[in-house]
Amino acid sequence: MIKVLVTGAAGRMGQESCRAVWRAQDMVLAGAVDTGRAGEKLGKVIGIEDIDITIYGDVETALKEVKPDIMVDFTNPDVVYRNVKLALENNVRPVVGTTGMSGEEINELRKLAEKNGLGGLVAPNFAIGALLMIKFAAMAAKYFPNVEIIELHHDQKMDAPSGTALKTAEAVAEVRGNLRQGLPTEYEKIEGVRGGEFEGMRIHSVRLPGYVAHQEVIFGGTGQTLTIRHDSISRESFMPGLLMGIRKVMDINELVYGLENLIFE
Ligand code: NAP
Repeated sequence: MIKVLVTGAAGRMGQESCRAVWRAQDMVLAGAVDTGRAGEKLGKVIGIEDIDITIYGDVETALKEVKPDIMVDFTNPDVVYRNVKLALENNVRPVVGTTGMSGEEINELRKLAEKNGLGGLVAPNFAIGALLMIKFAAMAAKYFPNVEIIELHHDQKMDAPSGTALKTAEAVAEVRGNLRQGLPTEYEKIEGVRGGEFEGMRIHSVRLPGYVAHQEVIFGGTGQTLTIRHDSISRESFMPGLLMGIRKVMDINELVYGLENLIFE
């Protein structure tokens, strides 16, 4: 049985993760951390009364007392690096869904995981459909180098663009390189209206209530466009990938960035 601790357990993704781990036959939900809900009963918070776990307010104490195999982190961009570092220092394998860590931070964590011989996963998106979207976008970029990305999320999301949009842009850039798109003399009448720039392509972030996580990758060619779209319409969409990630991380001894690197051949 894989012993799992969830940090950010009372948040939107954390609650869903606790329910998924609780239901998984090969896992034990061993502990939960959430700064805002310390001392409360997790079962009450997530609506499964059978769960007898009191929520910790501090990650380090939880890691030391629970001694899990895996720490699943769905907190926020300000605290995730520290949480993952603490996990690795305490011999616990991190499976991280929280977005917003920099490349340098991920590299530091990779080195620490290697030093301690621990597996780990940082996955900006656990939805298998979204990972396929990135794969298909990289395929299309070979034939359609002109592309713009529109990502749409709920309005409580802290970071922009989404980790998935960045990963898509990176995958496209790997195929087509840096390409200045559009009219060289274009100008913005409202600052930022053309979106953020990454290696010459534009990324647009929409934040509205009602959305969960959605993305369109639009390719433009001569006389045609190609749109690849993925929609996560509920947070359950992330759970099969999360459980797969947890199982895979038990069998590796390096920190991997992107679930696609563990599940696609
Ligand atoms: P959320 O609802 O705000 O949940 C975050 C929770 O973490 C809150 O309950 C927060 O408590 C708690 N928290 C903050 N600092 C903490 C700490 N140091 N230790 C333990 N708990 C802490 O956010 P969410 O919508 O679940 O999203 C969480 C992250 O997952 C975001 O970065 C989001 O972009 C990402 N995400 C990833 C995927 C994926 O597939 N990888 C999918 C969806 C979302 P307070 O409210 O008291 O601060």
